[in-house]
This record gives sequence, structure tokens and C-alpha cells, in this order.
Amino acid sequence: MNLVARLRQPEYTGENRCIPCTATNVAIAAVLSVGVGVVYPPAGAALFVGSLLAIWLRGYLVPGTPELTKRYFPDWLLAYFDKGPQVSGATDAAADADLRHDVDPETLLLEAGVVEPCAEEDDLCLADDFRDGWTDRMDALREAGADREALADRLDVDSATLRFEEHDDGFEAFDGDRRLGQWESRAALLADLAAAAELPEYVDDWDRLAVGAKAQVLGGLRVFVETCPECDGAVTAGTETVTSCCRSHEVVAVGCADCGARLLEVPYQGEPA
Ligand SMILES: [Zn+2]
Repeated sequence: MNLVARLRQPEYTGENRCIPCTATNVAIAAVLSVGVGVVYPPAGAALFVGSLLAIWLRGYLVPGTPELTKRYFPDWLLAYFDKGPQVSGATDAAADADLRHDVDPETLLLEAGVVEPCAEEDDLCLADDFRDGWTDRMDALREAGADREALADRLDVDSATLRFEEHDDGFEAFDGDRRLGQWESRAALLADLAAAAELPEYVDDWDRLAVGAKAQVLGGLRVFVETCPECDGAVTAGTETVTSCCRSHEVVAVGCADCGARLLEVPYQGEPA
């Protein structure tokens, strides 16, 4: 049995390695090694090498530091290093230098008449026309293979080589080995594909938006999904705690109550004090 594999702690290394935690432990190892090295230099050097090996294999040197960094490091720092699921929507190769990059999804959708102030409450609601068009397109995309055809068409790739991979924290599309994009779930992909087909009728310069800006608008629109694009179940929102390599934080999760499909996850800002 491979000794390295036995000692390795996958929950703290590789993709799950927490950079702030690793840096803290390397600093602790350096201080300890210098202290020992002052007394007997070879021992200091050996301690440092051994410590680095332990950090490489186990993710940390001092037991409990992953928990301590989670608790005491400022959240903005941990967020910077956080390698939680990166959900970017689809990317394409088009040069987007002269496209619009910064949009405020809410303003854009409001001006385009996609959403409007609700009749009953002080909030935004989908405009009826858009809701009907969007829902019809989501229903059509649910047919077997329709999502593959629609995505291939949108990204200008061959639908025969486009494949999907579904795993715990996302839904990815590949063209051969090339990753095209990632979504929270197939339901999120269906919502985005349907909206991307419907929005040009409302947003005048939709084609002039950069890929990232489109993804922002599509993601913002998912807040308004009323029934699950995949199974037609009820869509609910709630707060939950998400744990990633470095930290655990509260998010507002929007998802399907029936099939569990995740549509959207945004950081929870907390109630105003
Ligand atoms: Zn569902």
C-alpha cells in the first residue's frame, strides 16, 4: 500500500487545499524551525523539511488550524481564496473587446420590460408576456436532447460531440475535452437557454453584451423562476450553510422542492440590524 496515499488527507489537499490555512501553517513551521535551528541548525532544517512534507500531505501541520482559519480569518480574505463551485455559464471564443461588460441586471431587465413592479407587494415580478414566452421555451427544452441541440447551436459547436456531465455540485458541458460551461444544475441550464432565446425580443442590444454580462443577467433572472424547469415542481428559496475548503458561510439557495435541483445560490447578506 502506497504510504503517501495512506497519509494524504484529500479533504484538505489538492482541490480542497485551503491557501490561507496552508500559508499559516508554513509560517508556524518556519518560526518553530528557526527557533530549533538557533540551537542546532541541522535539526531546524530537518524540522522545516518534515513540516512542509506534513503540510503537503495533510493540508496542515497544527491540528485544528483549518477550523481556526475558518473562524478567525476575515471573510473577505477567505472568499478571495475560496474555491467553491465556479459557476460561470457558457463561454464562447468570440472576441468580446468592444462588447458591453458591466450591466446591472435589475435595471436592464426593468427597462426592457422583462420584470416590473409587482401589483401586490413592493418587489419585482416577471411581466406576463415574458413569463409566458420563457415558460413555453423551458417546456420545449425539457424534451430529450433539446437542451443539447440548443446549447450546441448557441455556442456554435457540433451537437454530436457535445456532452453533459452531472455531479454533486454542478452540471457541466463539454465539447470533446474542452469545457464549455458549468451551471448549478440541468434545471439552471434550461432556464438560461430558454431566457437567452427569449431575451433578444426584449433587450435591444442583447447581442452586444459580453458573455460575462449575459451570464449575470441570466443568473439574475433565475430568481424569478416559478416552477422547476426540469420537473415542474415548486421552486422555493431558503438560507443554508455551505462549507467549502476554507470557510462556511450562509447563502440564499433557490431550488426545486421536488427534484432538489439548485437554481441559484447567492451570499446571504443578513437581515438589516
Ligand atoms: Zn425539479
